Amino acid sequence: MNNSFDYNMDSLLYQNRLLSEEIRRRVEQLAAINTVAATVSQSLDLEVTLETALDAVLGVIRVDSAGISLVNEEAGELVLRAQRGWRYDFVSEPMRIPLGQGMSGVAVRNDEVVITGDVADESNLAVPEFAREGVQAMALIPMHARGRVVGILSVMNHEPYEFTDEEITVLRAIADQVGVALDNASLYERMKEQSSRLEAVLDSSGDAIIATDNYGNISLINATAEKLFGLREEEIIGTPLRNAPLHPKLREGLRRAMREGEGHTVFEVTLNESHFLSVIVSQVYAPPSLDRKRTPEGWVMVIQDVTHLREAEQARVNFTRAAAHDLRNPLSVTLSALTMLKRDLADLSAENRELIELGIQALHRMQDLIDSLLNLEHIQSGVGLRYTEIDVRDLIERGVVDMHPAIQEAGQTLVLQVPKELPSIYGDMQWLYRALVNLLSNANKYTPSGGEITVRAYVQDEELYIEVADTGPGIPPEAQTRLFERFYRVPHQDRAIRGSGLGLAIVKSVVEQHGGRVFVQSKVGQGSTFGMVFPLSAPK
Ligand code: ADP
Repeated sequence: MNNSFDYNMDSLLYQNRLLSEEIRRRVEQLAAINTVAATVSQSLDLEVTLETALDAVLGVIRVDSAGISLVNEEAGELVLRAQRGWRYDFVSEPMRIPLGQGMSGVAVRNDEVVITGDVADESNLAVPEFAREGVQAMALIPMHARGRVVGILSVMNHEPYEFTDEEITVLRAIADQVGVALDNASLYERMKEQSSRLEAVLDSSGDAIIATDNYGNISLINATAEKLFGLREEEIIGTPLRNAPLHPKLREGLRRAMREGEGHTVFEVTLNESHFLSVIVSQVYAPPSLDRKRTPEGWVMVIQDVTHLREAEQARVNFTRAAAHDLRNPLSVTLSALTMLKRDLADLSAENRELIELGIQALHRMQDLIDSLLNLEHIQSGVGLRYTEIDVRDLIERGVVDMHPAIQEAGQTLVLQVPKELPSIYGDMQWLYRALVNLLSNANKYTPSGGEITVRAYVQDEELYIEVADTGPGIPPEAQTRLFERFYRVPHQDRAIRGSGLGLAIVKSVVEQHGGRVFVQSKVGQGSTFGMVFPLSAPK
């Protein structure tokens, strides 16, 4: 009895020991899984996650080595990223296994755990060199993330080893934890890489870039902005733009552009007389959501220091102006000399008189050319434009009155389609007048006698249209795209019609300086319509 009691007692104690051993093991396993889980949720560092996972595996299963390989889908291979307990180094020059080959290939492809006791057999290995490692037992466990296999956890022993179902269950749990961690880490790495690439791009930009959130708080500035405005990123981030230590003119310009909301606003600011900045303010939108709504996320401002461009432009204008002036004087001296000669020399032969007349005409053309060049340079520089509120009817009347004699003389009819009430535009009267007269003068020059010239003005879609239409020869489509280029003249037109090819270039520059655009509609044999379009909501 005693004996049997002792025996039973022993057995009970033994059972108890086994049980507590079992419980201890279970607790260890759970702790291991928990450790990995905790690391997964805390660390975005790939290396830390891999090391923790390997520690956990070796802590809970009595094997001597383990490794983690990741699937690289683009390269079509499994790449060894970390290992513990191997005799040879297969990590520094990482072991790569083509997807679908060897046992790990099978594990990835079939998404199943592969257990083998015979790894020394080279025929089982996708990478034959691994045979020298002399592993006797191996379990390959696929790691999952977002429903696909992202890698393999390989657990090995250099002595024969039998993996129990229970161990495989624990390994599966760890493997999937690691899978999610890897996925997070690689997403994070990619994001970090993208953001540092973006940062590098932003910082290497020669333009200053400032971004704000929806509330106008500065969320980003690049290196050029720091340098240009003497700002420091760590001090300025989070500051409302209205408090930013920027030049008041620039700050006000930016805030005005932001109030205008949608789209892009382009403007130029002159700081301290001689410092020119060109600014583009754009509203930034979050990627469209499912309901396709675009939600504004803030603003980005690109600020370019254009001082050197303005200086160069000014130098060019000055040069052309000086050259033209220098040419102008001798030109007018020669012109008046020839005119006097023609008037005073009574006994000139008709032939000589005609020669002198030809000379006079040529000099006039040269004078026109010089004037046009000067005008073009001037308007393109945008320097010295005087903006006032322009009564559009008044503008059209001035042009029509001045061109009327020439139109009459050419035997053309003038039709006006200009409503009494028209919104005013903001612009430089002299230049707008010149642009309109250029269009009228072309219509006059190119339309044969008996033709009709129509001047129209109207409002459409928040834009003011001024059009000059004629019943002239029209312009072939291939030439229409080039009409507004400097010195371009339509080939095969009547060469007797004099011109420099600068008139329409001037029109385009004037209109663009006013924030508008030009267009032409024309059909050969029917006539042409040239239009100038001005935005009515243009910033003043
Ligand atoms: P130009 O001094 O030669 O008239 P523009 O720049 O004003 O220079 O015009 C460029 C060319 O466009 C002209 O040479 C002519 O070939 C063509 N063109 C301009 N206006 C008209 C028009 N109303 N009808 C036909 N052709 C025109």
